[in-house]
Formats: sequence, structure tokens, C-alpha cells
Amino acid sequence: MRKPFIAGNWKMHMTAETGAALIKELAPLVKDANCDVAFCVPAILIPAMTEAAKGTNIAIGAENVHWEKEGAYTGEISCDMLLEYGVKYAIVGHSERRQYFGETDLGVNKRAKAALAAGITPIVCVGETLAERLAGSTEAVIREQMEVGLAEIEDITKVVIAYEPVWAIGTGVVATNEQAEETIAFIRSEIGRIFCPKCAENVIIQYGGSMNAANCRGLMAQPDIDGGLIGGASLTKDFAEIVNYDKPRTNG
Ligand code: PEP
Repeated sequence: MRKPFIAGNWKMHMTAETGAALIKELAPLVKDANCDVAFCVPAILIPAMTEAAKGTNIAIGAENVHWEKEGAYTGEISCDMLLEYGVKYAIVGHSERRQYFGETDLGVNKRAKAALAAGITPIVCVGETLAERLAGSTEAVIREQMEVGLAEIEDITKVVIAYEPVWAIGTGVVATNEQAEETIAFIRSEIGRIFCPKCAENVIIQYGGSMNAANCRGLMAQPDIDGGLIGGASLTKDFAEIVNYDKPRTNG
């Protein structure tokens, strides 16, 4: 059985003060969640958010991690630095990193492998652009991202995959339930092909892209969707509604 996993991605939002206030506000609202819950936060906020989330069921993750133990990599963060604060997850290969900072599938692979070796769960993002979807190359693009990005990973069940169609991220245009399910089922079948069928059954695959309190139930009802990577809606109380997708709504 796969335990659902809802993670927020704060991107370059929040301060120590506003972030801690949000965690304090949300903690009682998500305490009975039937899913795993995390916030991936800017590196500088990790110590304060770890402190704010102490004693709650909210785990803290990073938005990226470097593959080297240490060295001349200005602006990067190592696994050891994250482990010092008990960080459990690290997003790897987010489309914004690929688009604005030139990250490649090869780098994604190095980051994911380093995280795994350190005992940090990588949340590996894959997804197609609108042009790629319209050209009918969604599956080819994702296959390539997976074959390179997940190469030589020994235990794929320790990886979380986030399917994030680039055209749905931060746009308010969510994939339909059917589009999300179809592509995530494809990702699962690729895990079966690249790794093993049994592994495929056990890998957590999230959907990400304008997921919010209004559309989360339909997405989470799909058989292959095990959770969400939530950007904008993780900055507000809406996040609790998403985490509680399996319970009656509290705000209509
Ligand atoms: C994301 O940043 O991974 C994301 C899915 O953003 P949003 O929910 O804002 O589309």
C-alpha cells in the first residue's frame, strides 16, 4: 500500500517570521492527516521551520541539494548541511531549476543519488512543456527524463516522483484528472520497465501544477496519483484543505 504524500514547495516565498506563523496555524489543522505532510522551504529558512514544526507531523524538506559532500560550489547546499537540521526530503529537478538555472537530467541524477546515499528522500520532478504536449511528445520527454534522471538508482521505491506538467505550474491551469492520471500511469509503467513491476507498485508519484483545495479531491481519487507537490496553495491555509482531501471540507 502506498501512503499518500502531500508536500508544499514554498519556492522563493516566506520569511522566518511568516513561515513559522503559517506552520503554527496549519499544524493543528493537519495533525490528523492520513498522508505524509511536508514543506520544502528555502534553505535559509530550514533551521527556523524545523524548529516551528517540532512536535508536529509536518516534515521539512529542501528545494534542492548538491551532489558533492563539500567544495567550491557557491550557492549550493550539501546533504550534510540538510541532515544537520533533520531534513527528510529534497526536491530535485524542479522545472524552474531546469528552465532558469540550466539544470539537466544528468545533474538531477547526481543530486538524487547523493540524497539517497545520505538518507534524504529525493522528490524528482518530471514533466513536459506545453509545446511538447501539443507536439504529442509528452511520453518521449518524460521517458528521457526518467531514463537519465533515475539512472543507476538502486532502490527506486525510496524515490518520490512528482509529475509536474510545466504548463500547469503556477498558471492556474490544472491538468484534468484524466490527463494527470494517464501520464502518471505512464510514469508508473516506465518504472516497471526500467526497474521492476513490483517496484512500480510501491513508488509514490505526486501530481503538481495548480493543485488546490477545489481540485485536489478529483486528482487524489485517481488510482495512480499518490499525492501532490503544491506551490501557490502551500502558502496559505488552503494547504490544510489539500492535506485533508479525504475528509469533509471545512470551508465549503
Ligand atoms: C510547484 O511549484 O511545484 C507547483 C506545482 O506550483 P503551483 O502549485 O503553484 O502550480
